[in-house]
Amino acid sequence: MHDLQKVRNIGISAHIDSGKTTLTERILFYTDRIHAIHEVRGKDGVGAKMDSMELERERGITIQSAATYTEWKDHHINIIDTPGHVDFTIEVERALRVLDGAILVLCGVAGVQSQSITVDRQMRRYGVPRVAFVNKCDRQGANPIRVRNQLREKLRLNAHLVQLPIGLEDQLKGVVDLVRLKAYYNEGDSGETIREGEIPAEMMDDVEQYREELLDAISEFDDDLMEVLLENPEDATVEQIVGAIRKGTIDNKLVPVFMGSAYKNKGVQPLLDGVNAFLPNPAEVENRGFDLDTDDENPEEIVVKPDPSLPFVGLAFKLEEGRYGQLTYIRVYQGTLRKSEFIFNMRGNQKVKVGRLVRMHSNEMEDIETAGAGDIVALFGVDCHSGDTFTDGKVRVSMTNIHVPDAVISYTITTKEAKHAQNLSKALARFSKEDPTFRVRTDEETGETIISGMGELHLDVYLERMRREYKVPVESSPPRVAYRETITSTTPFDYTHKKQTGGSGQYGRVAGAMEPLEEGHYEFVDQIVGGAIPREYIPSVDKGFQMMLDKGLLVGAPITGVKMTINDGKSHSVDSSDMAFQAAGRGAFREAYPKAKPVILEPIMSVTVEGPAEFFGGISKTINSRRGVIMGQSEEDGFTTVESEVPLSEMFGYSTALRSETQGKAEFSMEFSKYGRVPDAIAEELKAAYQKELEEKRK
Ligand code: GDP
Repeated sequence: MHDLQKVRNIGISAHIDSGKTTLTERILFYTDRIHAIHEVRGKDGVGAKMDSMELERERGITIQSAATYTEWKDHHINIIDTPGHVDFTIEVERALRVLDGAILVLCGVAGVQSQSITVDRQMRRYGVPRVAFVNKCDRQGANPIRVRNQLREKLRLNAHLVQLPIGLEDQLKGVVDLVRLKAYYNEGDSGETIREGEIPAEMMDDVEQYREELLDAISEFDDDLMEVLLENPEDATVEQIVGAIRKGTIDNKLVPVFMGSAYKNKGVQPLLDGVNAFLPNPAEVENRGFDLDTDDENPEEIVVKPDPSLPFVGLAFKLEEGRYGQLTYIRVYQGTLRKSEFIFNMRGNQKVKVGRLVRMHSNEMEDIETAGAGDIVALFGVDCHSGDTFTDGKVRVSMTNIHVPDAVISYTITTKEAKHAQNLSKALARFSKEDPTFRVRTDEETGETIISGMGELHLDVYLERMRREYKVPVESSPPRVAYRETITSTTPFDYTHKKQTGGSGQYGRVAGAMEPLEEGHYEFVDQIVGGAIPREYIPSVDKGFQMMLDKGLLVGAPITGVKMTINDGKSHSVDSSDMAFQAAGRGAFREAYPKAKPVILEPIMSVTVEGPAEFFGGISKTINSRRGVIMGQSEEDGFTTVESEVPLSEMFGYSTALRSETQGKAEFSMEFSKYGRVPDAIAEELKAAYQKELEEKRK
């Protein structure tokens, strides 16, 4: 078992194209796990090792989060691959849950980009300590100091350089370490040799200036250091400085800035030293779970401790069907996971045997007997969902209360030939198991299969996978926004369901009120007194109401925010039944709904656009013409960042519009923000379109 102090569970996150894949690849190379450097999207057809999926390689984005184990200077580093695209929120959040620290990769030229902002926001939410790596310092126009300034201004991070580049652009040779006051040069064919040297004389002034700034900033994390700095700055030891940087970083009060060029093999090893030195080990991070023995609805939070002798608790954060079969990645939070022992899935309390336990080395694996707290390992052939918690059965703890965000977009999918149906349902079952934000349902009336998720790209990736991995020639409708319906006023109802002509009759009367619910989808309140509706039929009424929620009457969207209260009714000694009261519930709902002033809600996205300042007008135009609202704008170094809220339904084709308005020089990222009310004029159009659709189906 590992010495916890020497374990690092880290993520690498970046804006697309900043070099995350290249950096990961170099890290694996220098840590001796792979023996030749392959270029990303390489000519040799091998490609970078982390991107195990063909599709990812083609698109150049990393979707699947895998954990890769490697070693650097006596430390065990698990690199958890965080999906970069914001559409995949749940995957990003689950990955963030599992890691203890992160490297924020930035392009030395482009600096803090739209996606860096989103990713940083997520890290902040989860309190993940991070170090920054300014990559691409070999490129023309690279400037790590400017990037540091952007980290401060755009991300409000207390960013401080711990290095300076030796040369820049095509002159980049290595870095000066501001803590040790040494120069490190990468030498050898692939930069594998680090030569330590003296600081080039011409850099001395800069080195002094930035070191002083660094020491000044970190002195607040260590009183002793502060004292030394006040009296005899020369006496500050490397250990003291490292300790203070480490403390500031772990407390999320400081972001040390490293730099180099992954592609040109510069500065990667010193960055790894920084990971070991400054990012927390698993024992330095407090992890909380929910004690399921307290209260099912509202379980108490408890701290799980990385102590190998306590009962085992682990989180299955990723399922992967690879060439080795079904793998389940687990992070052990407490206790010890042992091969051949039984563990229990907290969802359903299912007992499973730990058949094979492995450590994944990006694409080889190593069989192991035990895994201790803080470890990240994989199990073979265990049936579960992503996000499930396992324990040894002695405690009942769940590590997640991950609320699954609502899907905002859907496609109707079809495949022409019946022979593909089986594969299609296999694919759908598997995807929904791996990814709770990917949902599948069948429209009861039309029999159509509808998939929904977090965005176009999210669903496109799954469509691609159906075609490639499952060989299903699937076709899809244009994307549809996931509208909702809700009501805005209270209305009473009094409805009698009656069929008493011949044969056995049906009878049920329900009365009460429908009113808007502030929070939540649905609430049922029973105020029946004196048996106006017999007890046994009250759940039937509730069920009848709930059946109406799936499909609203305005545009067929799910209904949310409704409270149904019943306070009166009537039954018939022979003709009342469960069925009759369900029907009465449905009838009452149908009657009340139009009177309760129903409205349509639509998903509103928060959209961040970034581009040269001269295009601010153009960018604003693309937002304003989409019913968007600009929430904020900032400008720096000739670049403008515009934050806005725009309805998702208006965002289709946005990248094309933005490109033509800004000569392709702006970029954007978006994230679901909230549901908002559709303006009346548009609501009328949507309703008309829905009616038309219904008529066509009736034909
Ligand atoms: P990712 O999208 O963040 O994973 O970025 P990649 O690693 O795929 O890199 C994107 C592109 O930038 C590729 O063409 C890389 O070869 C290139 N690249 C990555 N790192 C560097 C670097 O340090 N310097 C230069 N000049 N190019 C780089």
